[in-house]
Amino acid sequence: MKVMDRRRFIGTAGFGLTVLSGALGRGASNAPRLTILQTNDTHSRIDPFPMDGGRNQGLGGVARRKVLIDRIRNREQFTLLVDSGDIFQGTPYYNLYGGEVEIEAMNRMGYEVGTVGNHEFDNGIEGLEKTMPLAKFEWVSSNLDWSGANALAPLVKPWTVREVGPFKVGLFGLLCELDGMVAPSNHQGVIYLDPVESARRAVRDLKREGCNLIVCLSHMGYGTRSENEQLRDDRLPAAVEGVDLVLGGHSHTFLDELVELPRRGGGLTRITQQGWAGMRMGQIDVSLSAGSELVMRQAPVWVS
Ligand SMILES: [Zn+2]
Repeated sequence: MKVMDRRRFIGTAGFGLTVLSGALGRGASNAPRLTILQTNDTHSRIDPFPMDGGRNQGLGGVARRKVLIDRIRNREQFTLLVDSGDIFQGTPYYNLYGGEVEIEAMNRMGYEVGTVGNHEFDNGIEGLEKTMPLAKFEWVSSNLDWSGANALAPLVKPWTVREVGPFKVGLFGLLCELDGMVAPSNHQGVIYLDPVESARRAVRDLKREGCNLIVCLSHMGYGTRSENEQLRDDRLPAAVEGVDLVLGGHSHTFLDELVELPRRGGGLTRITQQGWAGMRMGQIDVSLSAGSELVMRQAPVWVS
């Protein structure tokens, strides 16, 4: 596609936006609603997929993602925009600019919290020292100990709390094992911690903070295949109490609806994931029932 064509294409793209306006309905009650918007594994996809006849052609792109985000923010009173990791690697933007473009795009879209994926380490600690400080959003990662990575240590917290209207949202991050995923020389000074222990500690802290919604930004992947496999999203509810929602990543899984699993200690953990490449965002609407139960629904928002 020539530059002019591309520009014209982006200029007119607004007419084809897939917005599920009102698709979730307002419900019978006037209970306040929090709309969480999630992406994961966007993998340096700044532009939409090219119109080359491929099955993803025309999908994605940060310009159209921003239009959709702005539209939803204008419509909804309470929103939260988060990412579940692997924002880097996949297109020449990362090879040429080392991640600055991805972070700057996220700043302009108004991301609030993100977690670290394994590909964030692709340019090593040095690469992260150049890019992480550019973010206007917060980084959370509860099962990595950053204290040996001097300049980065103050930038990454195990968890954070965002107060949005009546919602006090606690968010923590989890990452898959570094072993076999990230070369040791690329994460020098960063130590991997047990994800179950780290998650339990984070939940305990967030409960103590008085959070009424606890969200895990997970880059562990969805879908457990064997007994001995490491912790993945679908195994978390049985191992960790108190997590209300897992916004996942890493396995590039498109989950069209929230997967509800019974969790340790009672209640449900909901899990979702939005595929990859920024082709789709997740819109998860959360409200409190009259009995103070969390009610959640997801609508996928295709960036097209
Ligand atoms: Zn990953």
